[in-house]
Amino acid sequence: MSDSDMDDLFLRIIAGEISADVVRETDRVIAIRDINPQAPTHVLVVPKTRYRNAAELAAKDPDLLAEVVRVAGEVAESEGIAESGYRLLFNTNSDAGQTIFHVHLHLLGGERMGGLTG
Ligand code: 5GP
Repeated sequence: MSDSDMDDLFLRIIAGEISADVVRETDRVIAIRDINPQAPTHVLVVPKTRYRNAAELAAKDPDLLAEVVRVAGEVAESEGIAESGYRLLFNTNSDAGQTIFHVHLHLLGGERMGGLTG
């Protein structure tokens, strides 16, 4: 990995350098439990190629974006929350609270959630 790759937490998890609770993996995507869950189910669906945010992923690799969303749906099924409901969320840049600049889709569920403003 290059020096900048070493700064990318998700690339280090994908490389096996940092452990994570992996719930699903494909050739192009990994899904891991969030280390600080904000709901009973809180999984991060991460493309193995780094894009900064969802807009960049959509522009540069729409098929990969579709795979990220598909895997989130599969994890929701395997977690048993597909019917009761779940939320998919991309934080983008600082006002939204993005802290890791390698795009990741939050899958949140397992309880009744409030409105979008909390
Ligand atoms: P963001 O705020 O960038 O949208 O989301 C980053 C998420 O990564 C946060 O929910 C945070 O709890 C999670 N996170 C930070 N460090 C780690 C880690 O080392 N392992 C895992 N599994 N999640 C992490």
